[in-house]
Amino acid sequence: MWSLLGAAWWVLGFNEEQRARALTQRDADQAAVRLSDFVAARLVAVDSIRRIREAGLLDDEAAFVRSCTIVQRELTGFLAINWIDSDGVIRWVSPPTPNERARGKNVFEHPQAAPAAQRAKAEHRPAITPPLPLFQGTLGFATYYPVLVEGELRGFINGVFDIRGLVERSLAEGVLEDHELSITTHDGLPVYETPSFAPAARARPVGTKELEVLGARWRLSLVQNDESATSSPARHVLFWVGSLLILACALLVDRGLARRQEQRQLEREQRELAELVAASPDIHALLDREGRAVRTNTAARRWVSEGAAFGDHVGDREAFDEALGRAFAGEPQRMMVDFGPEHWPYDVTLAPLRDDLGAVALHAKDDRDRQTLERDLRRAQELDALGRLAGGIAHDFNNVLTAVTGLARVTRADPELPPHLAEDLDIIIGAGERGAELASRLLVFARKDVTGPGEMIDLTAQLGAMSRLVQRLMRDDVTLVVEPGPDPMWVAMSRAQFEQILMNLIVNAGDAIDGHGRVRVAIEPGEGVVELVVEDDGEGMSEAVRERVFEPFFTTKAVGEGTGLGLASVYGIAQSLGGDVRIESQVGVGTKVRVRLPLASPPSSDAAQPSKPDPELAGRDRCVLLAEDDPVVRSSTTRLLERSGFRVLSAGDGREALAMVEDAEILPDVLVSDVIMPEMSGPELASAIRQRIPGVGIVFTSGYVDDALNRTQLAELDAEFVAKPFRPEELVEAIDKVSA
Ligand code: ADP
Ligand code: MG
Repeated sequence: MWSLLGAAWWVLGFNEEQRARALTQRDADQAAVRLSDFVAARLVAVDSIRRIREAGLLDDEAAFVRSCTIVQRELTGFLAINWIDSDGVIRWVSPPTPNERARGKNVFEHPQAAPAAQRAKAEHRPAITPPLPLFQGTLGFATYYPVLVEGELRGFINGVFDIRGLVERSLAEGVLEDHELSITTHDGLPVYETPSFAPAARARPVGTKELEVLGARWRLSLVQNDESATSSPARHVLFWVGSLLILACALLVDRGLARRQEQRQLEREQRELAELVAASPDIHALLDREGRAVRTNTAARRWVSEGAAFGDHVGDREAFDEALGRAFAGEPQRMMVDFGPEHWPYDVTLAPLRDDLGAVALHAKDDRDRQTLERDLRRAQELDALGRLAGGIAHDFNNVLTAVTGLARVTRADPELPPHLAEDLDIIIGAGERGAELASRLLVFARKDVTGPGEMIDLTAQLGAMSRLVQRLMRDDVTLVVEPGPDPMWVAMSRAQFEQILMNLIVNAGDAIDGHGRVRVAIEPGEGVVELVVEDDGEGMSEAVRERVFEPFFTTKAVGEGTGLGLASVYGIAQSLGGDVRIESQVGVGTKVRVRLPLASPPSSDAAQPSKPDPELAGRDRCVLLAEDDPVVRSSTTRLLERSGFRVLSAGDGREALAMVEDAEILPDVLVSDVIMPEMSGPELASAIRQRIPGVGIVFTSGYVDDALNRTQLAELDAEFVAKPFRPEELVEAIDKVSA
């Protein structure tokens, strides 16, 4: 025993230097293994995310961030996990704070990261950057894992690591507490170093070990720190004997521990993956060669029990089986499949597994929402195009009607007119007015009509006031229930618009009821909106009719009974007010139309009511400057104004109008101008004339007003607006208002 110890003493004394060297080297070896295992586990996690992404999961930002957060919570040392698109732009970041700044940056443009990212792109293999200063303020590195679908690059999973965090978390116990440590890249770039490494390395033996991280080689160097290095020979003996024992035990335990840790790590990853798939709202299943679902997630089990043939539940079995066959032959498949008892459309991919396990991975995504969205968008675009067409026609039509009815009215007012001609003219005027009504409804649909500036009404009061009128519109055998509700509901719209919506819906409801029935009209509050609801228990509509009801001139009614403009104008008004129209209908059960309009804040109570003009004031030797480019409208309006006792200066465009002002002996009191004219628009002309004659009143006329004239402009110029075609009184009223 003593001789043994003595020998040991001798050996120790003799080989002290070598022994210390050997121990240090052993510690370096162990530290390198620990560090590279620690990093490898994280790289496996990044790779797992890549695989899931390739399988078509995690294809929206929220799901991606949620899953990455789970990984990051379980595995420390990540600064971020990002999704980078194939152009190198960082799209999704997890966790969003504090990495938000990285979003939108292009890694191909980053001076130090670009080579690695480019390599990953070119070689379709994971790549790692050298250590680089991160925008979080620490030294780190980034990995790029390319995501490939059918051989095509879709983007990268980008793991970003904080080196200090990685080193300190993996080596804190056992290594950092007893050693000074330095890590450099293969070509000497510093990666990590404890503050006293340099002086310690000059004094004591250094252990060195290389480790590999994704193909990059790092060199780890370590020196024992003072406490463990300065020890007496006696302590050395005990240390040595103890060390041998401990080393033996530790080797065993360490192996076991490492293996168990590895095992646990693997299990955890598998659990996470399983949970990800299980929680997915999409259908995931593994199908065997016979098409049986051998593994299914919760969504899949709603339709197919495990072990049942998947093909039993799809619409076109033959096509599905054929695709499955091709997938087993190694060719990924994508197709639309009708699935389940309701035959819902699903977007299905069949992907052969990488390691052939005799199964194909099926992923099926419910496609209903996308298809509905697509259909709605298409309908909206169609209606928009129709609106533009209708608006264009109505505009020209309006000009013609203004001329026809205007001239007819002027002639009709002649006291010497023979009676039979007067009757004819009444018919012409009546027909013209009906035409104008039609045109104005088309303009409403096209959203080219104008509401007065700042007009606002309380729907509750309005419906209350109109309920008797509505009642009279209904047949006796239809029970009408009107529920205006208790609270005021303000909406920025005109009374005429509200009446038009209400009347159209009531007439439709009445028309839908054959014999006895019930119609309910209500104002219902919603969140930020107010709904006008008109509900009937009439014949209802088929899906095909419901799809087309907003089209102008679409009607199922007999010739002369329906114009097909009712719902088109309701739709047009609602859209122009920033609202929308929803229709629920069932054949044989009834129809519910909901017009949703944005709520406005109630007006202040002292808002002045516009005063009614005095019709007696007409003319009174005032001078009107008329600017109108359409010669027919110009001459009919001139005659109309002259008959009302105005002096009229008429001009074919803005320039001519300005020239007239320069030359005129009498300055005009009022400018009546068309809005859209060549050379100079109505508002431009108005501003120019205002500069010369500050007190001049301004009236705009147009059959077609959109962006060219808005409420603000009207308010700024303190102008009035008259829609074409107008009745003489309307124009005179407006002139009175601005020149009073
Ligand atoms: P019109 O009433 O002139 O036919 P609308 O645009 O008002 O034009 O309506 C278009 C079509 O929509 C109608 O012809 C009818 O087929 C259908 N419709 C509208 N409202 C209802 C309703 N309440 N119940 C059943 N069908 C309706
Ligand atoms: Mg109708």
